[in-house]
Amino acid sequence: MKITLLGTGSPIPHPLRAGPATLVEAGTAKLLFDAGRGVVIRLAAAGAVPSMLNAVLLTHLHSDHVCDLNDIVTTHWIMSPEPTVLRIVGPLGTRNFVELTLAALATDVGYRVHHHGDLGEGPKIEVTEVRAGDHLEFGGVSVVVGATDHRPVEPTLGYRLSEGSSSVVIAGDGVPCSTLDELVDGATAYVQTVIRDDLVRLIPNRRLQDILDYHSTVAQAAATAERAGVQVLMLTHLVPPPMPGSEPEWHELASGFSGRVVLGDDLTSVDLGEL
Ligand SMILES: [Zn+2]
Ligand SMILES: [Zn+2]
Repeated sequence: MKITLLGTGSPIPHPLRAGPATLVEAGTAKLLFDAGRGVVIRLAAAGAVPSMLNAVLLTHLHSDHVCDLNDIVTTHWIMSPEPTVLRIVGPLGTRNFVELTLAALATDVGYRVHHHGDLGEGPKIEVTEVRAGDHLEFGGVSVVVGATDHRPVEPTLGYRLSEGSSSVVIAGDGVPCSTLDELVDGATAYVQTVIRDDLVRLIPNRRLQDILDYHSTVAQAAATAERAGVQVLMLTHLVPPPMPGSEPEWHELASGFSGRVVLGDDLTSVDLGEL
């Protein structure tokens, strides 16, 4: 099972960090989690295109996590050799978001259907709205859905994937909570979006101060990882983006976790089979 942090950025634009998106490859399955800014470019860099995905799974509908879903939809449609279903999984509200996305794309879809006789009537999409406790399966990878706490944004979800002896939790945004602890417990790896509260507190901006109460700090992610006994903690959605040379500070903040902490640039990956 290979986990690739396609985009390690956040809503804050950065020249080198795409928006939140993570690719998990296990067996024959390729699963994409969230579709932030630049996701299709980063997928290509990871050796994949949207038509190769078994499914796209959304943790929540905040714009930084879904703003390039439209590009996934269009590129999946026009690159599939024949009309093929794109599966999209997400919390309640995902169906509405996908329908509105398709409405926004309707003019382009019309152009392409008119020009290419083999594209069918437009993107074929199957949306599955899930809730905590649901189980899914994609290409031999089992997926368990868990609730996260990113209030006032609701509902928000994390996903635990298992294949063979490897498992990973893609947690999305949120603060530590008992349902996240249950989801992560005993997993091999845990991917958590994080903020540096020590730095964000220094910025006199009301909107930035507001984000402190619904994201895990680095220390909180480390504590969750330690309680769960995972081997690897992967940090992503890095706010603010790490300054060159500041990586030791991030690792120091995560020192409450005794396993391996992975913090890196876009396309940083970990193969759980090589641990
Ligand atoms: Zn969010
Ligand atoms: Zn976010």
